[in-house]
Amino acid sequence: MKNQIYTVCAFDVSSEGYGIAKIDSAVVFVKGLLAGETARIKIIKSYKNYHIAIIEELLIKNKHRQKSLCPLNFKCGGCIFWHLEYAEQLKVKRHLLEELVKKDGLDLEVEEVVSSKPHLHFRNKVQIPIKDGKMGFYRAHSHDIIENDYCLIQSETANMIINYLKSRVVDIAGLRHILIKEGFKTGQVMVAFISLNELDARIRQLSLDLVERFPMIKAVIFDHKEKDDNVILGDREEVIYGQDYIVDELGFLKFKIALRSFYQINPYVTPLLYEGAISRIDHIEQKKVLDLYSGIGTISLFLALKAKHVLGVEIVKEAVLNAKDNALMNQIKNVEFICEDAKNDLDQHLRDIDAVVVDPPRKGLHHDVIKRIANAKIQEIVYISCNPKTLLRDIKLFQDLGYSADHLSPYDMFPGSKHLEVITKLKYRP
Ligand code: SAH
Repeated sequence: MKNQIYTVCAFDVSSEGYGIAKIDSAVVFVKGLLAGETARIKIIKSYKNYHIAIIEELLIKNKHRQKSLCPLNFKCGGCIFWHLEYAEQLKVKRHLLEELVKKDGLDLEVEEVVSSKPHLHFRNKVQIPIKDGKMGFYRAHSHDIIENDYCLIQSETANMIINYLKSRVVDIAGLRHILIKEGFKTGQVMVAFISLNELDARIRQLSLDLVERFPMIKAVIFDHKEKDDNVILGDREEVIYGQDYIVDELGFLKFKIALRSFYQINPYVTPLLYEGAISRIDHIEQKKVLDLYSGIGTISLFLALKAKHVLGVEIVKEAVLNAKDNALMNQIKNVEFICEDAKNDLDQHLRDIDAVVVDPPRKGLHHDVIKRIANAKIQEIVYISCNPKTLLRDIKLFQDLGYSADHLSPYDMFPGSKHLEVITKLKYRP
């Protein structure tokens, strides 16, 4: 089959952004083809039940197709939808979520996707690998680096810093990643050099030059990695310039963010997501809420503005330190933070709690976490997920334990990519 040419019409689009068509009874996934489009395609890989193909010539176009806003579309592992108008991206993402719900045999309504305004230059964090004398993004499904001068989802500041650094860092032995975090409201920027070697005079000098050129940089951090593995962050950090954190604002609240602390990457959507989550808790003013996977305490502090009391639990020590500082900085007193694995001491953390908010990483909730929350007969759980697959898996587990899930509310935290952030509420109805 390889290298053969066919003419096909895509009847749908896959979760990886490939057009889905058929050649006889076999499915073919066509890179960059949109639903409703007809193209002459070339098979580039053949498997037992399906083929992968690329477009040779587009014959009939979807009316929402646009010239790809990014020249790298599909080449770098990040975005897959810049050849589709933004409003249509949202419809496709909703459709894909509905398909996933159906496939899982669940009966849940999927609301319209809340859009990101703006939908370009929304990313406040960038991590760029350096390898073999090149600095850029990883090619999709690979660790080869593709160089690019400009990325349309990261900020203009990040683009400028990267272009400044590129020619100056690619030959520094041991340097693996540059990480940039930016507080969009405050303008504060953190730059981290992540290296297998020790800090040397060259990186120190470069940091000073960088700060002189970009005065919005408030933190330059050197992070030393012991092992040459796939984890981005190292083991030991040293501040080269300024502080070990930056500050950003969401709504009326201020947040300190350290290198190792998680912070939602799209600050235009984050407040909408948090509002959506908090509004799902009934009579919140009477409630004591547990915020599991609380990071730097963003959701906890928003909750604390309305709830009686909030307890945040988070595993990363630096994030918990930020969360405690953040409570003080915002003069919020009805909140506490504990540094712990979410599944440890959970029975104790759940004592006296009326509602739970969970916002776990992509792998979803540990089975023990689900069992213990159900054992405690917590009446309301608000689940914020960055991975619909594990969300749906966990909804089913909660359903087996007497809970019923509400509609799914998707938020477009990651325009251009296949990803969605989704909220649902689970109510105890034995
Ligand atoms: N709610 C926060 C953070 C969500 S990201 C926000 O909106 O910013 C998920 C968080 O879970 C990260 O901070 C991560 O460090 C933390 N985490 C990961 N595994 C954990 C575990 N087993 N127990 C507790 N926290 C964990």
